[in-house]
Amino acid sequence: MRARFRGITQREGVLVRGPAGWGEFSPFAEYGPAECARWLAAAREAAYDGWPDAVRDRVPVNVTIPAVGPERAHAMTLASGCRTAKVKVAERGQGDADDMARVEAVRDAIGPDGRVRVDVNGGWDVDHAARMIRSLDRFGLEYAEQPCATLEELALVRRRVDVPIAADESIRRAEDPLRVRAAGAADVAVLKAQPLGGVREALKVAEACGLPVVVSSAVETSVGLAAGVALAAALPELPYACGLGTLSLLEGDVVGDPLAPVDGEIAVRRPEVDEDALRRYELLPDDGPGDGPAAGGDGPGGAAWWRRRVELAQARMDAPPVIGAPRS
Ligand SMILES: [Mg+2]
Repeated sequence: MRARFRGITQREGVLVRGPAGWGEFSPFAEYGPAECARWLAAAREAAYDGWPDAVRDRVPVNVTIPAVGPERAHAMTLASGCRTAKVKVAERGQGDADDMARVEAVRDAIGPDGRVRVDVNGGWDVDHAARMIRSLDRFGLEYAEQPCATLEELALVRRRVDVPIAADESIRRAEDPLRVRAAGAADVAVLKAQPLGGVREALKVAEACGLPVVVSSAVETSVGLAAGVALAAALPELPYACGLGTLSLLEGDVVGDPLAPVDGEIAVRRPEVDEDALRRYELLPDDGPGDGPAAGGDGPGGAAWWRRRVELAQARMDAPPVIGAPRS
């Protein structure tokens, strides 16, 4: 990683090669076998089945503005070329005035026709959220993402503000979007392909929940991102820019022609894995575990730890195995 994100400095995963191409299995270290089974099903779909047909050939993406000062936020927005900016707010150690200044700077940079959304990552209580969303809306908000932690709080905020509410952290499992809808907690669902078990499963979830969808990444290499792009490309409607412009968080990639946005859009395609790049980042069989998750630390997991994760996930998966699958 170029900077610490989600508490990690190294992004690890397993790449699976099958008849349809490459797939990525990169659940975060704290996820157990049942959750990992869905991530593995996504890798299996990519490698063995491929994805449904695309209905568009480009996917608009947002630039993400971290909790930086207003001058930096302004410059990052301009440099991105994106027509939609997602501004992180409610950062620990900062106040409402910091958020107001950052959102104002981003609106100034992107102009009146650009779109500005805020991502609160569950950081406000209901009163704080209602007050801040109303205040920030003077700069024109497209939506507010996960203003509070729980579904019940989201539903309360949603009734008190005119700005649409998006659910992100509230949707981690396939059944969650239905709970979001039942609770009246959101107007927009943020979906990710890997945690939901692949592109087809995510499409089913999108249809079942009936909300407009924003496709987001799980901070993957271009191999994993391609599944998110395929999902965004296959959705019947795509009214919002997606959170798939995350390759810049990684220092390197494993394909020759990375899925990086150009002028705020990612072209719908499946890049080829580059064998040299693969070797550069590959864990050797006796690498790790060192101070990794198996030892309770936050260092690299190591090749043996990853093989074990694949085996445990595979045992929970309702599909033919990935390791030891017959070659077709
Ligand atoms: Mg979010």
